[in-house]
Amino acid sequence: MNTASANLPQTTATVKLLIDGRFVESNSAEWQDVINPATQEVLARVPFATDAEIEAAIASAKRAFKTWKNTPLATRARIMLKLQALVREHMPRIARTLSEEQGKTLPDAEGDVFRGLEVVEHACSIGTLQLGEFAENVANGVDTYTLRQPIGVCAGIAPFNFPAMIPLWMFPMAIVCGNTFVLKPSEQDPLTPMLLAELALEAGVPPGVLNIIHGGKRAVDAVCTHADIAAVSFVGSTAVGTHVYELASQHGKRVQAMMGAKNHAVVLPDAAKEQSLNAVVGATFGAAGQRCMATSVTVLVGEARHWIPDIVARAKTLQVNVGTAKGADLGPVISRHAKNRILGLIEDGIREGAKLELDGRDVKVAGYEKGNFVGPTVFSGVSPQMKIYTTEIFGPVMVIVCVDTLNEAIDLVNANPFGNGTGLFTQSGAAARKFQNEIDVGQVGINVPIPVPVPYFSFTGSRGSKLGDLGPYGKQAVQFYTQTKTVTTRWFDDAASSGGVNTTISLK
Ligand code: NAD
Repeated sequence: MNTASANLPQTTATVKLLIDGRFVESNSAEWQDVINPATQEVLARVPFATDAEIEAAIASAKRAFKTWKNTPLATRARIMLKLQALVREHMPRIARTLSEEQGKTLPDAEGDVFRGLEVVEHACSIGTLQLGEFAENVANGVDTYTLRQPIGVCAGIAPFNFPAMIPLWMFPMAIVCGNTFVLKPSEQDPLTPMLLAELALEAGVPPGVLNIIHGGKRAVDAVCTHADIAAVSFVGSTAVGTHVYELASQHGKRVQAMMGAKNHAVVLPDAAKEQSLNAVVGATFGAAGQRCMATSVTVLVGEARHWIPDIVARAKTLQVNVGTAKGADLGPVISRHAKNRILGLIEDGIREGAKLELDGRDVKVAGYEKGNFVGPTVFSGVSPQMKIYTTEIFGPVMVIVCVDTLNEAIDLVNANPFGNGTGLFTQSGAAARKFQNEIDVGQVGINVPIPVPVPYFSFTGSRGSKLGDLGPYGKQAVQFYTQTKTVTTRWFDDAASSGGVNTTISLK
């Protein structure tokens, strides 16, 4: 626990909890500083909510569910319409806060808000998304239909890397389906989710329908084990996601855990070279490599192995700077701890014999000497046994593996413990079709570097990147956040109803 905030002036802002429609100061004795990763300036202090506060948030959500679940679809949709308008209107302000607390460049911070906004836009169609099915005359005079009903109080546990998009993956779809929600944002960048919560209240989300608690493991374990929580949606690392999945499942909850990644970009020698290498370099180093869909392994197939100098030349052109600076390509990583971890992994790569083609360890940004900056770093000669290959580095580090054939590349990707995203760069339709058919990865891009699906599809994942059947948005989110009930009906009409007692299972 970071207790440095004990010495801060009393004027330092505190992050509030949202309980029962009110932003309240926590009584907690445990606080952590929210730090600007470019300057180390303390932006605010975030509380680790007490057990009583967590209980109060869940109790408020439980009370609110009683009426919210029967609120007309059109009312819920109108709140989402208002929310999307407010998020759009306040996008520059949200992006600035996001950039300050997370480190992303301003354009990328706007992208973070925008990809979440798209989910809110999709939530506005709940009237058609939550439709049931109807079959007339399943037997004589008998009809069957389904209802898609909300499931109760749902919880969301969010990571630091998309403080706008991922909360917006979670609460809009949950509440528009008629559930109430308890969100626990990342304690590293909670200011952005709080801005979104303010807008949600302004849009008309009633008291108790959306609650926010802050904290770490204690808060997460409390929601995963609480009798009144029906479902848990987690996004974060594989280690924590596996824990959340197991704990919440053991306590009878629906769980979806979207987890870590090691995304491979496979480049065939027939690829459009300029566009493909630009795409791969952008997808590796954008957001300082802290995207779950970042390219972290570049697989050069056959003659494409000669393109390493072209990759390095492109990586060298990228500007490392504070996220708010004009022209910045990548900002700092989230914390000192994250930076040291990345530097340690780079040293592991050198020790294991990979060739360091570009070294970003000593990058300096004038005026921001204390920032957690790591420059673009490229390793070639990487083998699948090396730690830099097997570990999610979550920093601006590209590892290059060379193979001879597409088959070898597919086997390599499928043998990796993670299966979040991958891309193939080629001009061959046949190679692309083979790749999309044989690859065991959730998101596949063909000449598209970061294939995050738009919200009418659903985000998914394979192996160590996902646990649970259903994804966080799209149609799968509607299934996740609703319970299907089937109703079979017969209405007697004196003339038609005849016959005696039927002791069989069949409907006649
Ligand atoms: P993290 O797992 O450290 O934290 C995620 C959440 O879990 C946070 O709210 C945190 O407070 C909580 N937490 C941390 N330690 C915990 C513990 N021991 N027990 C219970 N809860 C705990 O992840 P992060 O560093 O914030 O985010 C980066 C990770 O998220 C990367 O692995 C990235 O690939 C992954 N991610 C995945 C997706 C996806 O859709 N697959 C999307 C974004 C990020």
